[in-house]
Amino acid sequence: MSDDFEEQSFGATTVWYGAKRGKYPQGNSLVVRGTNETIVIDPSLGLVARGALAPRADRVLHSHCHEDHVAGSFLYPDAPWHFHTADLPGIRSLDGLMELYGYPEPIHSAWRKTVVSQFHFTPRPDAKGFRDGDVFDLGGARVRVIHAPGHTRGHCLFHVEPDDLVYLADIDLSSFGPYYGDAWSDLEDFARTLEAVRAIDARWYATFHHIGVLEGRAAYIERLDRFTAVIADRERRLLEYLAEPHSIAEVAEHRFVYRPGDPVAFAEAVERRSMSQHVSRLLRAGRVREVEPGRFQRRDA
Ligand SMILES: [Zn+2]
Repeated sequence: MSDDFEEQSFGATTVWYGAKRGKYPQGNSLVVRGTNETIVIDPSLGLVARGALAPRADRVLHSHCHEDHVAGSFLYPDAPWHFHTADLPGIRSLDGLMELYGYPEPIHSAWRKTVVSQFHFTPRPDAKGFRDGDVFDLGGARVRVIHAPGHTRGHCLFHVEPDDLVYLADIDLSSFGPYYGDAWSDLEDFARTLEAVRAIDARWYATFHHIGVLEGRAAYIERLDRFTAVIADRERRLLEYLAEPHSIAEVAEHRFVYRPGDPVAFAEAVERRSMSQHVSRLLRAGRVREVEPGRFQRRDA
């Protein structure tokens, strides 16, 4: 096992880092220990890599149903698995998960294999649902659900007491910015969520990828504002590009979410889904017009 696999404790909560601080496809998982129960949140490939040293748990909570957040859930076949009710269809079957992504062929078939072979996707028809405001009382420690949709419909944060730690899941504060490239992602929901979570005032802020744990609201707000600004930056670049009329296929090929040449198998689908949401909202705002069927141009161009 490499030195990358560290653990860091914050009272009842321990962060189990994945390789490279949880850089995708790895992630950082949380373990919260109460006097009655121990829960694990978002079992990642980092837990799988630990083998017999992976933490034990009575219950598994998931921030949302994405391949990297359920990659180690199979380690807990006897524990109940919980998701927000809106993401439950994704864990009940592989077909349900693939609907959540909504990728077209040939990406669909390749990705369907990858989520099983690399991310150990294991359907769990009896997974349980939770909702915003639900509290898991572990005895001396509590985990409260904060619904924060946009990344997926059921994406949630968790606030852990008494540690005053907020787990931000895939509001990951990375330089990549917000991801809203799946069929079940929603740009407008994500933008509303980012406004709402700005009010969160906690001692610790943990993310699933890259950043690890931040201390204090000032550090959080600085990162959050930069993360949020990526949405406006993508839109600004799109408007520049739409000085000339372009189709969605051309927009996708130009690359606004990924960099040209990024080796991401599903990039084309994600660009399409992400940037067509930007085009839709610019159409609604009257800043872009459809100059001929399927071709869009900035109004003032
Ligand atoms: Zn995700």
